Amino acid sequence: MAGPFYCLTCGAKEEDCKCERYCCICQNDYNVRLCADGNYYCRECREACEYEAQS
Ligand SMILES: [Zn+2]
Ligand SMILES: [Zn+2]
Repeated sequence: MAGPFYCLTCGAKEEDCKCERYCCICQNDYNVRLCADGNYYCRECREACEYEAQS
């Protein structure tokens, strides 16, 4: 089981994070989730990088 992960910018958990969320690779804002390194990634980039969103 993955997570909880913390936002790199504000240090909050994903459900508490108020940051503007967009993929840090492609700037997409659709289907963006926080990953283990504290950045947000869209689904495509998560799959490409094999990052897992917290469950
Ligand atoms: Zn945040
Ligand atoms: Zn992306």
